[in-house]
Amino acid sequence: MEKDILNKNIDRSWVDNNDQPFIISGPCSAENEKQILDTAQRLKNIQYVRIFRAGIWKPRTKPNNFEGIGQEGLEWMKKVKKKTGMLVATEVANAEHVKLCLSFDIDVLWIGARSTASPFTIQEIANALEGDRDRIVLIKNPIHPDIDLWIGALERLFMKGVRKLGVIHRGFYTYKHSQYRNTPCWDVISKFREMVPDVPIICDPSHICGNKIGLIDIMKKAFHFQYDGLMIESHCDPIHAWSDADQQVTPEHLLDMLQKTINNVEEDPKGSEINLNSLRIFIDEIDENLIFLLSERMHIAKKLGSIKKSSDIDTLQPDRWKSVMDKSMNLGRSLGLSEKFLEGIFQLLHQASINVQNTIRE
Ligand code: PEP
Ligand code: MN
Repeated sequence: MEKDILNKNIDRSWVDNNDQPFIISGPCSAENEKQILDTAQRLKNIQYVRIFRAGIWKPRTKPNNFEGIGQEGLEWMKKVKKKTGMLVATEVANAEHVKLCLSFDIDVLWIGARSTASPFTIQEIANALEGDRDRIVLIKNPIHPDIDLWIGALERLFMKGVRKLGVIHRGFYTYKHSQYRNTPCWDVISKFREMVPDVPIICDPSHICGNKIGLIDIMKKAFHFQYDGLMIESHCDPIHAWSDADQQVTPEHLLDMLQKTINNVEEDPKGSEINLNSLRIFIDEIDENLIFLLSERMHIAKKLGSIKKSSDIDTLQPDRWKSVMDKSMNLGRSLGLSEKFLEGIFQLLHQASINVQNTIRE
């Protein structure tokens, strides 16, 4: 399918007809009626919150965790709609979920990161929504940064007649340690935008951070990139939440964070034009990754040091060092890096590694 057809025919009215910022908020999971209604009433006082979210079916990494309250929760969502006037949203992962949501008149459906990674699942959901032009459907990024797979999911829904589409940036899984639950990879989103600039993008700082303290920084970055909205998890009593307790905030905390971030951003032009501030955000993310990698390298060097000590092997192994240096210089050369620059960095790394191994021997 031509990307342009998708891009030009998406119905953006659901997000364009609202004042900014456009906020989706509510608990990770629906737990009981009181929790849902209490959270919703408190969110309603925040003028920016247009859509109330709550997970009814929860995809969990491991079995035997709370997997969602199920159909009963849809009744509570209907009450939220009636009492507050907010639109309501939940996650769907199969045709049965879609059918139930349609019968309870749930306005907004989102597709979770694990589901977006499966074309069969997306096709099943798209088939169940055939011809539904009123429903807003938001597709979270797949767990891994595969932009074509993500756009493919949009196309599957578009081809079945769904027009009120958007995507949610919730970050990407990385096996390596980082300060995030899911690494943002801002450059991936910039690339996605270049490919389909008219698709609304909502940022989900909650699932990027996995904690409360990182939220403000991600919100500022999302405002900087002029995202179309934010999805932030909130709960009337976050500490006792049945899922994602660490990252949920109270509605009042959400308002406070919005007040601190809304008009506090250096603006960048929208679309594919990248300016100084955007490039700095990319550089900062690379630096964060470099620091985590350096820490991991030093950690392994320490383990090496212990093995060398117990096996009575010298810390400095000239052949090994030569081979590390040769391989690194070859790779760096093929990537256009200056030899002097790379050699300097590797000398420093090597010295730091020797130092830490020597301290083990003392
Ligand atoms: C959620 O929004 O609660 C959720 C499960 O998200 P994700 O698919 O991003 O993990
Ligand atoms: Mn969650």
